[in-house]
Amino acid sequence: MYHHIAEPPRAVKVRGLYVTPKQFEWQIQCLKEAGFEFTNFRKLTNQNGEQFSTSSSKRQIILTFDDGYLDNYENAFPILRHYGITAVIYPVVGAIGKKKVIWKENDEQYPVDLMTKNAIQEMHQAGVEFGSHLYDHMHLEQQTQASIQNQLCRSKEILENILGEDVLSVAYPFGSYSSTVLQATAEAGYQYGLTTVSGINTAQQPHLELKRTAIKGNRLHHRWTFMKQLQHELLA
Ligand SMILES: [Zn+2]
Repeated sequence: MYHHIAEPPRAVKVRGLYVTPKQFEWQIQCLKEAGFEFTNFRKLTNQNGEQFSTSSSKRQIILTFDDGYLDNYENAFPILRHYGITAVIYPVVGAIGKKKVIWKENDEQYPVDLMTKNAIQEMHQAGVEFGSHLYDHMHLEQQTQASIQNQLCRSKEILENILGEDVLSVAYPFGSYSSTVLQATAEAGYQYGLTTVSGINTAQQPHLELKRTAIKGNRLHHRWTFMKQLQHELLA
């Protein structure tokens, strides 16, 4: 689970959301060397029909990017293309093409550039998959049932219009979900739901409660930190 791929602006206090392009490229090289096969939800679904369990003997990994920052297009996309690997990006659908404060609960109100519809279409054509991060960046768990349904369905529909293809997955903002959310997610037609619970996914993991490993920006010892995560979390 990545967020920004960029040098953190000076004013930003929450630096953990920023992985620099150089660090990101180095991490890709590490994952390749460790033998991971990069995939996405569409490939997995096509490979196995409705089954999430994979026939591949290789360890598979899905790179995900939350919020839909413009820097993903500017900085991460060229690296993904260079290495010929796919990823899944989760834009806040109501914020596409805008400059907006996404992380409202922080004391800093820092507006950031979000990717445009054109950027989404260009990346999609190049093999990047997109999923929903809702219409608004909100805690779903705290919403009424009507609002939960609206957020899940409206964002899916808009994104599908942009892509010309069905949207398979949703990343719950702040990892916020409940049994009501899970039911609404299934009813809205999503096949996969992404939490912020840390860990790898086995075939037994419920598809609407997939775990992720947060890769956080870290200026000092970033290589050591990533290697430790690779060994203890991703290769566990
Ligand atoms: Zn988010």
